Amino acid sequence: MSTCWFCEIRPADASASIEVEMSTNVKKIAIPGTKYYKKTYQSDKVLVPRCTKCKMIFKKKDIIAWTGALISLLFGAGVAMAIAFLRKGSIGRIGWLDVIIGIIFFIIGSSIAIYRGIKVPGSNEIKNTITDDFPKVKKMKEQGWKIGIPT
Ligand SMILES: [Zn+2]
Repeated sequence: MSTCWFCEIRPADASASIEVEMSTNVKKIAIPGTKYYKKTYQSDKVLVPRCTKCKMIFKKKDIIAWTGALISLLFGAGVAMAIAFLRKGSIGRIGWLDVIIGIIFFIIGSSIAIYRGIKVPGSNEIKNTITDDFPKVKKMKEQGWKIGIPT
């Protein structure tokens, strides 16, 4: 097995690796007798090697970022309602100023969550953060392949 692409230190684990779906040669073909088209394309999957520890670090970052964003959203909404209540005596009478203050609290909270995610133990070992720069993915992109499957 190859070395983990993300830390470039530990051996990759098959269960922790990331599958990147790629496509090229997208064509729109008219379906005879109808006004509809169907898309045809060539697809391939690139396996980006990852170790179990990096998988765990990624997961922790995600959990911190998402729960942080959710808490910030609820907190921001709470702040907006509280200000509306203080200003107008009713939480139902939220004005644009209350909303803006709520959004500011949401942005501050989310930023803290993202920062905390960056500081997850082991994060400093991660050298590559995205699969897009993986050599095989990069090479295929240069040859006209795109990440993902056309919808
Ligand atoms: Zn790793």
